[in-house]
Amino acid sequence: MATYKIALIKGDGIGPEIIDEAVKVLDAVASTNGFGIKYKEVLMGGIAYDVFGDPLPQETITTAMESDAVLFGAIGGEKWDNLPREKRPESGLLRFRKELGVFANLRPATVFDELINASSLKPEIIKGVDLMVVRELIGGIYFGEPKGRDENKGWNTMVYTRSEVNRIAHVAFKSAMERDKRVCSIDKANVLDVSQLWREEVEEVAKEYPEVQLTHMYVDNAAMQLIRDPKQFDVMLTGNIFGDILSDEASMLSGSIGLLPSASVGNKVGVFEPIHGSAPDIAGQGIANPIATISSASMMLRYALNEIEAADKIDAAIAKALSEGYRTKDISMYDAKEVCSTSEMGSIIANYAAQCKH
Ligand code: NAD
Repeated sequence: MATYKIALIKGDGIGPEIIDEAVKVLDAVASTNGFGIKYKEVLMGGIAYDVFGDPLPQETITTAMESDAVLFGAIGGEKWDNLPREKRPESGLLRFRKELGVFANLRPATVFDELINASSLKPEIIKGVDLMVVRELIGGIYFGEPKGRDENKGWNTMVYTRSEVNRIAHVAFKSAMERDKRVCSIDKANVLDVSQLWREEVEEVAKEYPEVQLTHMYVDNAAMQLIRDPKQFDVMLTGNIFGDILSDEASMLSGSIGLLPSASVGNKVGVFEPIHGSAPDIAGQGIANPIATISSASMMLRYALNEIEAADKIDAAIAKALSEGYRTKDISMYDAKEVCSTSEMGSIIANYAAQCKH
């Protein structure tokens, strides 16, 4: 029997609540599908700072590197907002991604038919939306030098090298080959030199994928088009900051940020996490939606562990829970039969996944 080693990083705020539910669901499919999972919990974020004085202890990096995959909740909160930048939870997360070399962040945005009324957009605009944001994760303005600030000035630098663009473009084109074979590359090439290089290199990579149709779009237009007609997109290829913003925008197509998963890959070990943050405003109340994290666990099974059938079972169980009318508070106003807590939603999905005959 295969036994996988998973590093669990719960983090801050709602992180522990949502990770516990994902583990419940993973355990349910592991036992029905005949594989084992050995978890090792390590700290990152505010809690790691409180315990070790460092938001990213070395043990966390080492454990992650020795694992088959990392399942991650969320970090951050007001309590740590005034620390020096390198001690802040968010710095720990950025450093973690860099250490693991996970340069590609895959963020699918789909609309569940059952939640068609949960979006702020009209049903006819969003029905059938199925897009994938492929975001570069360890370059661009979040990492570029020089950066800094003094009393009257703050500065950051957006840098991309050809090789960084090349490798993320390959991820996008490969993803498109398994989907509808369309890539829309997002940039600001009318203003930014870095975007002109981005565009040139994406065109080069495109030559290796003649079946894939490539288009380019300026980021400001993309922000508008995502709301006007999201179905026009299949794969959206973006740099770090543009993808950060557009994928949060895309999350509202589905109705709640609590529904959307992500996978960060590119090197040996991938990191699987919801796209939302630690939601301090609702932490500890048992009302967080665990679906984004459970869905991230499904991506982990699919992309990192090659347990496709188990991943399909989880996806089917999430759809079933929603179609039966189970809703956490964030989506409770839409055709709810029953409003459930974080842990009730986790148990319902775990039970459905275990019964699923896929
Ligand atoms: P957030 O995503 O935590 O929350 C935004 C809003 O969405 C809040 O109203 C929250 O209650 C709601 N929300 C988020 N997840 C939800 C869920 N699963 N179920 C129901 N509602 C949910 O973003 P924020 O408020 O801007 O940031 C809070 C903290 O999280 C900050 O410290 C920020 O730096 C951090 N953050 C961390 C990550 C990460 O760990 N990857 C990502 C983004 C923000």
